[in-house]
Amino acid sequence: MNLSPHFTLQEMERSQTAIRHGISNKADARQMKALTDLCVNVLEPLRTLVNKSINIQSGFRNSTVNSLVSGSSTSQHKKGEAADINVEGITPSELFDLIRNSSLPYDQVIDEFSSWVHISYKPIQRRQAMLARKDGQNRTVYTRV
Ligand SMILES: [Zn+2]
Repeated sequence: MNLSPHFTLQEMERSQTAIRHGISNKADARQMKALTDLCVNVLEPLRTLVNKSINIQSGFRNSTVNSLVSGSSTSQHKKGEAADINVEGITPSELFDLIRNSSLPYDQVIDEFSSWVHISYKPIQRRQAMLARKDGQNRTVYTRV
């Protein structure tokens, strides 16, 4: 089922962690609405901006999946408001800079460990851009940029 012209519910719910643990990872109606808003307002315009497909590494996560990947308890992934993405041929850092310097109505954009970009949407956006890095004790430290 398509949520927008180029994004499907299936790719937003796909989770290797859920598959590995044999659990389902299905969005309810409210989470599906948030995922649709994310696709329509941020991911489709971003796809147009970069003129390439957007690879969804992780979209929706139910509470169990989110715990299994050590996600924050307040993660926007649980609400269907966030996706972790990559674009072939563009480094995560380049993608992060492109998004934060764009007029896309994102809520948060985070360069996570120079490995992927976390991007979220909600009706009233904070437009926060942050770097996530590990400190000496392997704790994640967020810095606003
Ligand atoms: Zn994320």
